[in-house]
Amino acid sequence: MQKQKQTAKRPSGGSKTQQPKKPITLWGAVIIAVAIIIASVLIVGVFSNEFRELLTGGNGLEVCEKEHNGICEKNHAPNYSVADLIDFDLEAIGLEIHFIDVNQGDAMLVKFGDEKTMLIDAGTQGVYASGTAHNYYHTAGGNTVPSATRNKYMNYLSSNLDGNHIDYLVVTHPDADHINMLWTVVDTYSIGTVYANDAPSVNSSTGSLYLNDKIKSEADKAGGNVGEAIWVGESGADFKDIFGAQSDYTVDIFGAGYGFSGHSSNNLSLMVTIEYAGRRVLLAGDAETQAENAFMAKYSRGKDIDLLKVSHHGASSASQQSFIDFFDSIGYAVITVGEQNGYAHPASPVMNRLFNAGAVTYRTNRHGNIVFFVGEDGSMGFKAEKPVPVENNSKGAPALMIA
Ligand SMILES: [Zn+2]
Ligand SMILES: [Zn+2]
Repeated sequence: MQKQKQTAKRPSGGSKTQQPKKPITLWGAVIIAVAIIIASVLIVGVFSNEFRELLTGGNGLEVCEKEHNGICEKNHAPNYSVADLIDFDLEAIGLEIHFIDVNQGDAMLVKFGDEKTMLIDAGTQGVYASGTAHNYYHTAGGNTVPSATRNKYMNYLSSNLDGNHIDYLVVTHPDADHINMLWTVVDTYSIGTVYANDAPSVNSSTGSLYLNDKIKSEADKAGGNVGEAIWVGESGADFKDIFGAQSDYTVDIFGAGYGFSGHSSNNLSLMVTIEYAGRRVLLAGDAETQAENAFMAKYSRGKDIDLLKVSHHGASSASQQSFIDFFDSIGYAVITVGEQNGYAHPASPVMNRLFNAGAVTYRTNRHGNIVFFVGEDGSMGFKAEKPVPVENNSKGAPALMIA
């Protein structure tokens, strides 16, 4: 079938009558100019962050398109991907890092194959009532932690540990959300070696002195629950290699030193690096800018990080841009953070930095308990209590969530 060609026909017949040309009036010119300006403004407004900054008088990131519990998710939310579940050989695991969901706080368990176990922090900020964050600061014995939270945590430990011994305990710093379940741990388990800082005056109100007294007295008494205590950072910034060259695992504990002034317990945070089977992990505690700077000045191992435990629950006083940029790559990130935490953690600028770095991000407030596995062959994967989408996978890396 032949397509009919439609052509516009000039009306036939009749001669064209020439209309006299009208000069464009001044008002016409004004209307055209205004229309052009409005069109330009709309086009620029839609496409330019800079223009938005002009309108909002601040950083373009402040323009929030989606909020979640008061957290702006402008830049990373559109890049969620539903986690594709992967098959993973859990029989040949050489390294497990458990990020235990304790609401707002840090509580990690590291298992080095069948050989050694390490606990890094044992804290929580407690429960939340009416959407309000409650600070459960330390009192002797950690009695202010709600028993339900403590029981859940202790049950998690007992179901993931054989026996009642833990080889290493790393106390990153003496803030309540990192230590206030520690007493129960020390009373329940025997500890081989404690790594902590012994800074004398920082944050004693939240238990630093009590913590160290407790550790010291346990370490000193015959038959006590703590074998020995090693203070990290006492004589300035340093790394302690705790397994030695013969081990399959390279584990360094970094202390930034005791020299920071003011309320700076976060900058006392010990940071832990773990290398195994070609994989590299950095657990950054609550280190803020000063500690990050000290770390960068001393760090000499590889700069491709497979997993970053984001510092300070994603606070904007940490994870400075130069720290993120210091590494050649950051494959995956875990943020330990409570729902409705009252601090708006994780902070939008930090999430945006992780987004730009393409660091596929897991969060305890969304994924619940998160376990990172490294196989003996260097394969890796995550097991999440709640298999919900990951964030910040702007470079298209797989979520590596294990079925
Ligand atoms: Zn802290
Ligand atoms: Zn903290």
